[in-house]
Amino acid sequence: MLDEGTIKKGERYYKSGKVLWVVKYGNRLFSKVLGTYPYYVVLDLETGKNSCTCPLGGDCKHVAATLEAYENGFFFESFEKHTEIYPEATAMEFLAEVPELALNVTLKELIFALNTDESGSEFAKLFRRAVALTHITKRREVLYILKEALDEYSRVFSDYELSTRLKHEINVLEEEFQKGL
Ligand SMILES: [Zn+2]
Repeated sequence: MLDEGTIKKGERYYKSGKVLWVVKYGNRLFSKVLGTYPYYVVLDLETGKNSCTCPLGGDCKHVAATLEAYENGFFFESFEKHTEIYPEATAMEFLAEVPELALNVTLKELIFALNTDESGSEFAKLFRRAVALTHITKRREVLYILKEALDEYSRVFSDYELSTRLKHEINVLEEEFQKGL
């Protein structure tokens, strides 16, 4: 069970945007929360039973944040059986329908990956998704966030040909904006 202090921490977590997505399937909530690492939560709304992939394993601020998100109406409801096996896939399907929200979630993960991803691969995947979503949403101001993130990435992975390729991809996006596409 969640104690008072944990519930308070969960509220703060939710308010600061750390809950990336919540999917409700039947009585259960599935979510992804950005803590020290990205954590995955499952919470049964009827029994309160829960689990989390953080070191505590459950009854933690990530579970509390998930509940807070749900109570604030921040969730998708799924009726697809595959949700219990692949909740993240379900979340991605929903997000694909709401590019603005998908871009916000992707940017959070991107900034997070910048500080934690030692391979550079996760960042590159998220970066390309963010570029595609920026193109769809035409949110010009995101261009500068992406450029800044890429500059930092390029400093860390300066010898990666991948850095050069990503730079090229952002230049293409910028040119499209300039042409008013
Ligand atoms: Zn946790």
